[in-house]
This record gives sequence, structure tokens and C-alpha cells, in this order.
Amino acid sequence: MPELPEVETVRVTLENEIRNEIIVGLDLYYSKIIKNELEWFIYSITNQKIHRIDRMGKYLIFILDAYAMIIHLRMEGKFYIKTDEPIDKHEHVVFHFKSGRNLRYHDVRKFGTITLLNINTYLDEYPLIQLGREPKNLDFHHFFEMIKNKKTTIKQVLLDQHIVAGLGNIYVDETLFLSQIHPTRIASSITIKEAEIIIESARQVLEKAIELGGTTIRSYTSSLGVHGRFQNELNVHMKKGEPCPVCKTEIIKIKVGGRGTYVCPKCQH
Ligand SMILES: [Zn+2]
Repeated sequence: MPELPEVETVRVTLENEIRNEIIVGLDLYYSKIIKNELEWFIYSITNQKIHRIDRMGKYLIFILDAYAMIIHLRMEGKFYIKTDEPIDKHEHVVFHFKSGRNLRYHDVRKFGTITLLNINTYLDEYPLIQLGREPKNLDFHHFFEMIKNKKTTIKQVLLDQHIVAGLGNIYVDETLFLSQIHPTRIASSITIKEAEIIIESARQVLEKAIELGGTTIRSYTSSLGVHGRFQNELNVHMKKGEPCPVCKTEIIKIKVGGRGTYVCPKCQH
């Protein structure tokens, strides 16, 4: 699944490719990806120019003339830019550009979403309104206030996009390793000092991952053939049985809230 750094790589790559393209038509092969009324969506998006692409958490935001198109890639969503090649069976939405090129939304699992909203109000509407802040914009005092009464694990809290935006499974494991905090700790037991360490670690992990273009892991590669290099920097995630880079204790894999979780049992208390 693409996480924040991978989505950022997609954003930068796509923006370079399709900035200033004008959408002149649309083909829909699996319309449930579109979260608006379909006739309205097609009518509204036609003749809109793509001015830039923003990102909030794991959402891509295409800034058009009168609308913002909000896209979540979920598990397997990808974009391809093509011209007249035949349609692949996993290409569900094709945006035709005035230039003759087209942008294709490809999604094997079909969990992705595309939502068109008014440019003046999209930040105050679902889905962006319910999104927490990214670690780089999140004050640790505010984070501490949000979690101090939570009776779930710190891992589950960090995965909750209403609290912190943009941390997924890989980056939560890495953040908690750097913080030397065990993922099964109950959030209400986290001290303010630990909250500060967690937010600082999350910033470091995400900054490094963005710099390296994200992590290429299992089935996910970002669009346009871009592969991340952060997998070379992982300390614990996917490292079951390997020695901890700090203390050489064997990394173990456990389940936390149903998610595969990698831990150094000695470094993380
Ligand atoms: Zn260790």
C-alpha cells in the first residue's frame, strides 16, 4: 500500500508530467471509484485545466479551474500516462487530454476513490475535513492531549488518520523503533516526553523516506516506473529474524490491532 512518501513521489512525478493539461473527455470502466453523481462528475470535469497537484496525508489533490479532484489510491491505485495503447483490464478511469495523451487510473483491488469538490470549499468537506495533521505540522502538546485518554495501543493511535495524517504500517513500525517504544503500549500511558520523541521520530522517518522516494515493497511501485529507495533504510519493518541494528537482538513479528508489526523486544519497552 502506498504511504505518504510514496504518494508524495507520485504527486511530484505526475505534476511534472500533466501540469497545464486540459481534460476534454472521460472513459469510465468501473464507475464505483467515482464518489460523485456520475453525470455531474463528467459534465463538471470536462474542459477543466490541471493547474497543480497538492497532497494532504495520503490524498492527492488535483487543483483544476473550478474544482479540486481528491484521490486516494488505497491499496493498489496507480496512474499511467499513455496515448493510444489498448486499455488494460485494471484501468478503470481514463482522462483524455487536449494534447492527445491520457491519464489512466489503474487499480487491481478497486479500493481507490476519486471525489470532485468545489475549489472554494473542498478543505471543509469530506474527506479532507476529517484528516489529522501530518507529523511535521503537529505540535507534540496537541498530540499528547489527543491521546492521553485513549485506551488503545500507541500503534493503533498512530495509524488513525484522524489523529496523525500520513503514517501507515511501515512508518509506524519505524517511528516506534526510533522512539524505543513498544507498539502494544496503551496510548494513555505515553508521557509528554515520549509524545515529543514519537512526533520527532515520525518527522525524521517521513522526511528521510520522502527524500528517497518512498519504499518499494511487495506489489506497490509508484506510477511511471519510479521506485523508492527507503527499503534500504528500514530498521525493523519486514526484518523478522534479523539482528536489531542497535543491540543485535533478533527482530520479532507480532500482531497489533490485526496488523503485522515488527519490534526489537530489547530496545522497545
Ligand atoms: Zn534492539
